[in-house]
Amino acid sequence: MSKRTLIIGAGGVGNVVAFKCAMNHQSFGEIILASRTLSKCEAIANNIFKKINIKINTAQIDADVIEDIVVLFDLLQPNIVINVALPYQDLTIMDACISCGIDYLDTANYEHPDTAKFEYKEQWARDREFKEANIMALLGSGFDPGVTNVFCAYAQKHYFDEIHTIDILDCNDGDHGYPFATNFNPEINLREVSAKGRYWQNGEWIETKPMEIMKVWNYPEVGEKDSYLLYHEEMESLVKHIKGLKRIRFFMTFGESYLTHMRCLENIGMLGIKEVEHKGQKIVPMEFLATLLPDPASLGERTKGKTNIGIYAKGIKNGEEKTIYIYQVSDHEKCYEEVLSQGVSYTTGIPAMIGAKLMLEKKWQGIGVWNMEEFDPDPFMEELNQQGLPWKIKES
Ligand code: NDP
Repeated sequence: MSKRTLIIGAGGVGNVVAFKCAMNHQSFGEIILASRTLSKCEAIANNIFKKINIKINTAQIDADVIEDIVVLFDLLQPNIVINVALPYQDLTIMDACISCGIDYLDTANYEHPDTAKFEYKEQWARDREFKEANIMALLGSGFDPGVTNVFCAYAQKHYFDEIHTIDILDCNDGDHGYPFATNFNPEINLREVSAKGRYWQNGEWIETKPMEIMKVWNYPEVGEKDSYLLYHEEMESLVKHIKGLKRIRFFMTFGESYLTHMRCLENIGMLGIKEVEHKGQKIVPMEFLATLLPDPASLGERTKGKTNIGIYAKGIKNGEEKTIYIYQVSDHEKCYEEVLSQGVSYTTGIPAMIGAKLMLEKKWQGIGVWNMEEFDPDPFMEELNQQGLPWKIKES
């Protein structure tokens, strides 16, 4: 029976997912890209046809409205839905999958628009309903979360008897030439980096002020960079699934210009997520700011430099202490050459495609709601090498 794949969300990441699914169309069958703004889907479909001569179809959907999603699912009857809209739509799309019996994948955990809080609670709570509907949800199949979870599972499977500490490192050394812009959706990005930091140690979460802890890490192929401790969602599932873990932290690099702009915007209230009244109209400052900032999808053409994302794991193998760094380096300009996107969308979109490919090929299968590190990492790691995200390991 021929397959059908529905991608929801035609932003920077959706562009890469659509390109990469089209490049692997034997696995995905008919591909439909649906989003709130149909013209964005059509522009991506046209670019794919021009560049690689594969036709994908398009549709309009407001994924905040569950009834509309159900109508679209009934019409298309896809084998899988790849959700690369915004985290706000995770629950409506998951609920529509439950009601229509369709497998689900996303790259970011649910957030309520009015509360900047990332957690898996509400998505994990749907495990029973996914099981009753005999379908699978794969959560967080981007780079971080996503590949970073798979790197941890790979380290656990092949390199350690016990992992004691993990530091997830996310370095983007790209330069787009603007004084201030975000590499993925501005609202989601700014909510993430302006939130309090948090890491896990000896069974407890320890909270820090935003950007309170800075450490200089040396990133292979990039160099030394100031890196700030943030809370990041993959830690919530990794603490449940990695054996013997005593501490896990997440660090991300930020340039001086980005931080100065962010502090200033925060000080004047532009990062607020509550409505304010402006000349008789209600506006949310963060949403207004997102409207002013460059569209991340437009940064591709101008971004130069590299990303390096990886995990440092320390632990014990055969009674001896051991440290490894598993990492992936991408070059923004090469990403753009291949799929007309900068490196952050590229490194997120490819793992989303790979997760869906493994589900469709039944290499990763299960019923219920799953996180990435719960599956065998080997087929995913092989696909990363083949699909444009080759990785390396440093051992000491
Ligand atoms: P963009 O803002 O570029 O794109 C989001 C797309 O979703 C837009 O096309 C938007 O439509 C569409 N959309 C928003 N709301 C709706 C709705 N109600 N119904 C239908 N479509 C909607 O974001 P990115 O592509 O940068 O990010 C996509 C996702 O990837 C986000 O969830 C983000 O958190 C995640 N991400 C994950 C990463 C990881 O490593 N795990 C890293 C980076 C991002 P419109 O064009 O009309 O606004």
